[in-house]
Formats: sequence, structure tokens, C-alpha cells
Amino acid sequence: MSRQALDALKQQIPLMGYLQAHDWHPARRLSRGRWMGLCPLHADHKPSFLVDPHKDLFYCYGCGRGGDVIRFAELYHQVRFSQALALLRQWRGAGPLLDEAARFYGIQLERHPEAVAYLLQRGVRSPALIEHMRIGYAPGGCLRGWLTQLGYPLPALCQAGLVTGAGYDAYVRRIVFPLEGNLYGRSLSAAAPPHRFLPGAKGGLYAWEQVRRYPKVILVEGLFDYAALWDAGFHNVTCSLGVHLNARQIRQLCEGSRTVYLAFDADTNGSGQKAAQSLARRLTEQGVHVRRVSLPDGHDPNSFFVQGGDARQFRSLLEAAQ
Ligand SMILES: [Zn+2]
Repeated sequence: MSRQALDALKQQIPLMGYLQAHDWHPARRLSRGRWMGLCPLHADHKPSFLVDPHKDLFYCYGCGRGGDVIRFAELYHQVRFSQALALLRQWRGAGPLLDEAARFYGIQLERHPEAVAYLLQRGVRSPALIEHMRIGYAPGGCLRGWLTQLGYPLPALCQAGLVTGAGYDAYVRRIVFPLEGNLYGRSLSAAAPPHRFLPGAKGGLYAWEQVRRYPKVILVEGLFDYAALWDAGFHNVTCSLGVHLNARQIRQLCEGSRTVYLAFDADTNGSGQKAAQSLARRLTEQGVHVRRVSLPDGHDPNSFFVQGGDARQFRSLLEAAQ
């Protein structure tokens, strides 16, 4: 990559915007428009991370590291320079494309009765909920045509994972939930793998910006669990998209001081509860208050509500959580 191309990439991705998109929050303002906050690169307890938005540079007085947005991506994602460039290019390019795909899937939802029927069966019927989560449907076989007509080149669609190497829509008969920098697809068909993501990271905790201000947060495994709780009025709910949290999700739960209610599945094989136990241990070590919610055997939060549970009953499960 030439010097000019590097400068162009940096210009398109201001450091401050990239930091904030990765949950960095400035703690105080310094002179000459500079900011100070907790360092996202090491376990920082008093703000030592300095950002100068005009020079587009950072420096940490704690761990002694500093540089531009490319250096930050290298350190933050723990990758080499060339991989950091690829990640930044992907981050810059994929946003509008995924937004457009999500919008298209949103329009498809009401046109496909099989999708509406599946959502009903999972307790999702409220238009406010569907709008809040921007739930859509990928019937398959029509996204590629729509996006190329809008002017997105085919290689970009393949690179984002929306279209396969053979040229077909990657998501077929899937309920689609937009995430930050990704799309999650839940298959309607039992023959296909139930859960799919586009290539790349699943991102941080779901809807974290709306949840992080609550002193008590409920964490669930799946987006249908999230949907059931949100619909029942628990807006302090977030979702880790699986029982294994990535480093970023752990960091999000650990920032500030809060109580986390783990409401993982009570599967009959105990895997959800085992995962909740080890996560609880890990968070407790980091100083987070954790309570584990015991759902009736064989239930997850979604099935609890779908099979007649109500907000009052769930609230008593929260109160009983240890
Ligand atoms: Zn640092």
C-alpha cells in the first residue's frame, strides 16, 4: 500500500470516531481539544489514555503505547500491520452495505408469511419490537440483484459475505437481525445450521449503548431471549450471541460498576448453566457483581415467556437469583 493510500485510509477513519465505535469514552477534556480517558489497551483504573483528535494520535501514559488509528487497530485487535489495514478497510466499507442489506431484509419480512409465522411461534409479534431490533427476513435469491442494481459491485458483496463465491445469496430462509458490523441469520429450516454470522467479529454486546447506563443488566444468550425480555418491559437486557463472550464483551460488562444477572438457558444437559458458572467466576474476579437466574428446567428466557410466563414471574426469578 502506498503512502498516499495509507493517508487516505486514515483520513476516512478519524481516530476519535473509531475509538468511540469501540466503546471508548473520554473522561475529561484537556487543553487544545485533547481528551483523556481509560486506556482500552491495558487494565486502566485512572484515565491515562490521551487522544488528540486534531493530530489523530493517541498516547497512553500507563502502558507507554501510542500512534495513529492503524497502530491502535494493531494493538486493540492484536494483529499485524497488514491485518490491521484489512480490518480498517473492511470496517470503513461494510457499514453502508450492511445497512442497505438490513433495510432490504426488513421490507421482505411482511411479504413472507413463513417468516411472520416463525416469529409468532417465537413470541415476536409487536411492531415496536420488530422495529426496535430491525428484524428482517432473507428469503434468498434476491439480495444480490437488489444491491447490484443500487450500484454495489459484486466483489464487495462477496467480500462482505452477503453473496457466496458461486454468486448466490448467502442467507436463505433466515430471520435476520442487524448487529454492529455484522448480520445474524436464524434459519427457518431444520436442515440448515441454525445460527449464522457473516465473516468477521460478532461485535460487542447487543444494544450496549442503550443498556450501559443501567446499574442492573440482564445478560442472555440469544436474540430471541433478548426479544422476549425487551417485549416484557425489561429494557436493561443485553445479549452475548452465544455463551462464549469475546474479550470486548467482557470489557463492556466490567467497565463501571454494575450488577449482571446471567439468564442463560437451563438446558437439560446443563451446558448453559456450566457456561454461566464459569462466566460468573470470571466476572467476579474482575469485581463485577454477578447473580445467576435459575429458569425452570429445559427453559430459556424466550420459551419461559412464550409458554405463558409473565413479567411479574420473571421479576421474582430475578429477585431469587444468587
Ligand atoms: Zn495503556
